[in-house]
Amino acid sequence: MRHACRLLATGLLLLLAACKEPTTIERIQEDGALRVVTRNSPTTYFQDRTGEAGFEYELARRLADRLGVRLQMETADHLDDLYQRLQQPNGPALAAAGLTPSDQRRQQVQFSDSYLPTNTQVVYRNGRPRPTQPSELVGKHILVLKGSSHAEALRQLQAELPELRWEESDSVEVVDLLRLLDEGQIDITLVDSNELAMNQVYFANVRVAFDFGEPQGLAWAMPLSDDSSLRDEVNAFLKQAAEDGTLERLRQRYYGHVDLLSYVGAYTFAQHLQQRLSRYEQHFKRSAQSHQLDWRLLAAIGYQESMWVPDATSKTGVRGLMMLTQDTAQAMGIANRLDPRQSIEGGAKYFATLHANLTEDMTEPDRTWFALAAYNIGIAHLSDARKLAKAEGLDPNKWLDVKQMLPRLAQKQWYSKTRYGYARGGETVHFVQNVRRYYDILNWVTQPQLEGTRLAERSLHLPAVDKTAPADAPRL
Ligand code: GLU
Repeated sequence: MRHACRLLATGLLLLLAACKEPTTIERIQEDGALRVVTRNSPTTYFQDRTGEAGFEYELARRLADRLGVRLQMETADHLDDLYQRLQQPNGPALAAAGLTPSDQRRQQVQFSDSYLPTNTQVVYRNGRPRPTQPSELVGKHILVLKGSSHAEALRQLQAELPELRWEESDSVEVVDLLRLLDEGQIDITLVDSNELAMNQVYFANVRVAFDFGEPQGLAWAMPLSDDSSLRDEVNAFLKQAAEDGTLERLRQRYYGHVDLLSYVGAYTFAQHLQQRLSRYEQHFKRSAQSHQLDWRLLAAIGYQESMWVPDATSKTGVRGLMMLTQDTAQAMGIANRLDPRQSIEGGAKYFATLHANLTEDMTEPDRTWFALAAYNIGIAHLSDARKLAKAEGLDPNKWLDVKQMLPRLAQKQWYSKTRYGYARGGETVHFVQNVRRYYDILNWVTQPQLEGTRLAERSLHLPAVDKTAPADAPRL
């Protein structure tokens, strides 16, 4: 009898072990899908010409790859909806949506380590008095996202400033807040620094009043659970992404234009987008179509070359909106380089020729970056840089590899050994980088859901500009 009992007990134990609840990670792997809830916004998740894109999307996709599962994105209508979904029994595994951890939120969800440093910025409209401290927000028309960390911050501030009033809306996104401010419909809003940095280029009247509170960082949110498997995995993943440069690459890709625009001038770009690009948009589209190119890429080249100024001239003899040399213009059958339509057509044909003539085993998107480099430095020097890459054991068909070699074309110890000699390869690296950044911006402003409206009328509502004001001189 005792023996039988012991057997039974062992059996039960085994059964219990076999029935042990799977961990969150095991469940995700069993399902074969990582469900992530997000917001549809330029800093998080959106559709571009190539499909799904966005900082949060790309980071989450890498986590899904690491787990060997499919990524399933879902978008919440607003922040409260996002937190509700996260807490549902069969809800998403995590929220990746530019979220700021807070004590109040920690009662409902748990957060990962931070993956992007940010801080809250109070913004106001250029031309209005600039508030410099929280007490000056009293009496202002303030609008923030409902359920946001900013609404929470204002509630805390109200404890010290009982007269402080604000509105919260769950039917707007951060881009709308900035637009309303830009148009003068509200006085103040609070947004994360990364959101402002990303969108500043579209809103010429938006200015930072002051930084609010302590620097924070964005983090992913997960349902509260006794099982820490997912949070541990996410933190290990983020740590690795920080160490292997993934986070920095994504930051560069999505926010890199901000560094660039700080010297080109975000306001200037916003104005040029409206004043100048609309004049040439049809030419870009027509030439792009006849050479099977993306018109936004051509427009980005044009902005890098001349800031969309048709009679731009440089000391080296290149001229026109696409800055063609005399020889290139001739080879492309262009009679007048200063005619914007002809210049764009010549630039498009030249780019398409370079792109087509690159070696067959070069794949996209690298192929496009190489064609851009060739547009700037010429195919001969580019081939030198590719040879240098090969000699170093790098891949001559990878832009990231050849990019490291290009600056060597300006150093005697290296260029003296190349076939075509000295070239300003460092400038080419900048050229490609800048064009890619403009291209990213143009991709965002011209997303499919905004197509069909004229550029100046798109929902981002570029700032109204004074058409009588003299155009800025080109900076070449
Ligand atoms: N980080 C904010 C939050 O967690 C959302 C983004 C913003 O409003 O700028 O509520």
